[in-house]
Amino acid sequence: MTTPAENFLNLKQTQVQEVLHDSIAVPDELQANVLVTTLDKVYNWSRKSAMWPLLFGLACCAIEMIATAASRYDLSRFGMEIMRPSPRQSDLMIVSGTVTKKMVPAIVRIYNQMAEPRYVLSMGACATGGGPFKEGYNVVSGIDTYIPVDVYVPGCPPTPEALIYGLLKLHEKVERQSIAKVSWYQKGYSGFVPVPVLGPDIFDPRQVEIIREHTLGEGAARVGGAGVAERVQPRLLSAEQKAHLEEVRKRFLAKMNVPVT
Ligand code: SF4
Repeated sequence: MTTPAENFLNLKQTQVQEVLHDSIAVPDELQANVLVTTLDKVYNWSRKSAMWPLLFGLACCAIEMIATAASRYDLSRFGMEIMRPSPRQSDLMIVSGTVTKKMVPAIVRIYNQMAEPRYVLSMGACATGGGPFKEGYNVVSGIDTYIPVDVYVPGCPPTPEALIYGLLKLHEKVERQSIAKVSWYQKGYSGFVPVPVLGPDIFDPRQVEIIREHTLGEGAARVGGAGVAERVQPRLLSAEQKAHLEEVRKRFLAKMNVPVT
């Protein structure tokens, strides 16, 4: 039977070699009790060794993500087997699948609800750039237009091995961070990302003034020449069109057994 001191020595030699620091020599008689390292190494090692992913998937790529968590590939080797259903308890968002315009506001809202430090991994061609649906009427051309992405995993779909490779790359990124410099401990840092607004087409609310200027204002005239600003003004409906819409609305309410007001 091994003693606690032997256990500690064994742990030092086999499992935490990477976090040991040799700037201070530990006397032989203390080797079984003392471990010298840096705060950065402990901080990063503990974060990368228990990075809990958020439990959600968007399309076919999610099946590969699920396979990665199952017994053959076994994410628990990395301390990641607990996929959390709550963004408050998650460190990593794996965007796995096609990102539709309808889904983007929900994804950004969930990202905003994750506590720092948080990371995002874009899994597959769809999440990274729209994939086979790029420029489709309902798909965005990459989730990185809306939230910051740390690692991209290519493929359609990426294999579980590719996802694990991406996760290891993320671990490397975490290991390079320093507790003194990370953004979430800086004064005045705000990680809030504006939630995109659903409309005829989705847009980034941070750009709203520029969009307004170039579609309705002087910018339209400047870009498209005289007359363009007038053409892009909202068209007013005629009385006939209004009556038709009212009739359609009443028919719909009657069908749904809702009292017509
Ligand atoms: S990248 Fe391919 S496998 Fe992944 S969600 Fe898009 S279509 Fe599906």
